[in-house]
Amino acid sequence: MRTRIAPSPTGDPHVGTAYMALFNWAFARHHGGQFVLRIEDTDQARSTATSEQAIFDALRWLGLDWDEGPEVGGPHGPYRQSERKDIYQQQVQSLLNKDHAFYCFCTKERLDAVRAEQQANKQTTRYDGHCASLSAAQVASRMQAGESHVIRMRVPEQGDCTFTDRLRGPISIPFSQIDMQVLVKADGMPTYHLAVVVDDHLMGITHILRGEEWLNSVPKHQLLYHYFGWPPPELIHLPLLRNPDQSKLSKRKNPTSVTYYRDMGYLPEALVNYLSLMGWSMPNEEEVFSLQQMVEVFDIDRMTTGGPIFDQAKLRWLNGQYLRQLDSAQYAQRIQAWMLNANKLQQLIPLVQERAERLSDLLPLVNYLLGNLPTLSEEDFAHKSLQREQVLKVLHHTLSTFDNMRDWQRDALFSQCQGLAAAMELKFRDFLFPLFIATSGRAVSLPLFDSWMFLGADMSRARLRTALDALAVSNKERKRLDKEYQALPTLMAAGDSPAN
Ligand code: GLU
Repeated sequence: MRTRIAPSPTGDPHVGTAYMALFNWAFARHHGGQFVLRIEDTDQARSTATSEQAIFDALRWLGLDWDEGPEVGGPHGPYRQSERKDIYQQQVQSLLNKDHAFYCFCTKERLDAVRAEQQANKQTTRYDGHCASLSAAQVASRMQAGESHVIRMRVPEQGDCTFTDRLRGPISIPFSQIDMQVLVKADGMPTYHLAVVVDDHLMGITHILRGEEWLNSVPKHQLLYHYFGWPPPELIHLPLLRNPDQSKLSKRKNPTSVTYYRDMGYLPEALVNYLSLMGWSMPNEEEVFSLQQMVEVFDIDRMTTGGPIFDQAKLRWLNGQYLRQLDSAQYAQRIQAWMLNANKLQQLIPLVQERAERLSDLLPLVNYLLGNLPTLSEEDFAHKSLQREQVLKVLHHTLSTFDNMRDWQRDALFSQCQGLAAAMELKFRDFLFPLFIATSGRAVSLPLFDSWMFLGADMSRARLRTALDALAVSNKERKRLDKEYQALPTLMAAGDSPAN
């Protein structure tokens, strides 16, 4: 038995990744199998080494170890998709040879027009097969002329794809709904669909446990397994974590990064216990259990298919249970590992030293950086030249900008804020005021941009979200603010900046 987790290193280490990793890990460990970590970094523009490292750190912190992966090695490497280009090229060539795939030269303009027409006719939007019957000679001459092209898979015109998901039973999807998926992009990189099938097969993966959002992609994958002549792995699609309003857990509404929970002082064993409860239950319904206890009795058929709500209050309660189980020496050691250590102090001292007159000034200066969200009310945001509406805009637009930032760098934060202030025609000083309050609970604090760097992306965003809640922003207001944000002239520049 071999399972895997295949994260894309394009952002903070998501609790959803940890949740999937946990079940793949527990399943493999229970059956004495192996658990593989593969990095899906074919989106070269969005993948970063920092994000990859953060994923490794987060999983290790949670106690989830892997037998094969980028740093660990193993017999089926390399374990980063960007290093496996030759393998995909070879495999896609075998599909072309057997005529299961074809070259497509359609331009973006043509594809857009086809899509628009299908939308207007209320049809499934999919590739219309324009290049599917080009002759070998036509293909050769267009290639020679240097025309940009992709490779697409063929899809039967009729019939259904029927497959079984272990938790959901048999599922049938008509091929007429399946797109002739691009397998190799114009830049020669494989798409997810080609890479996932090739890698899962070559890496000997026997069971795929992943999010239910991939269910609709299964027909494409089953076809590819069939074309290659490989046996498909067993499929187990797990329910996605959800926000309290049932939408898919997203950083717009909830802190989603494992780093956030670590910095807020959650214990790894409590977080991992909580994540287990999201999709599974112990046979005796016990709620507090260790990874080891879970592995001993793990039974995949006890997984739920209902979308579990990520409930902060329940997680806090569970964490409290774990804190109370520690003896005082262990408790002290956990506090040190959390924030009260030389490494963290090193980051704070440059900020504090020039502002303190006594050593004891440390705590009052930094308390808002050590995890406690200030409780705010509308009066805290009162300002001589800013109306409530402007305060809302500053908070909302900054939060929206932060939601889109992939790389949390001081310079980028600064230039984004300057751009926003200019677009909103506010003095930079005035623009910063609501952000100071939201972040630190006071108008005068340690420098704002340094505070955000210390807090990290998820924690900083959580502060801004809490501030908007304190100002009792209604859903209607939020929708209007979203629209106004979209219309801001700086938005293009924000998307293009190196921070993204
Ligand atoms: N890279 C995909 C993701 O991060 C993996 C999906 C899969 O497990 O097949 O969601």
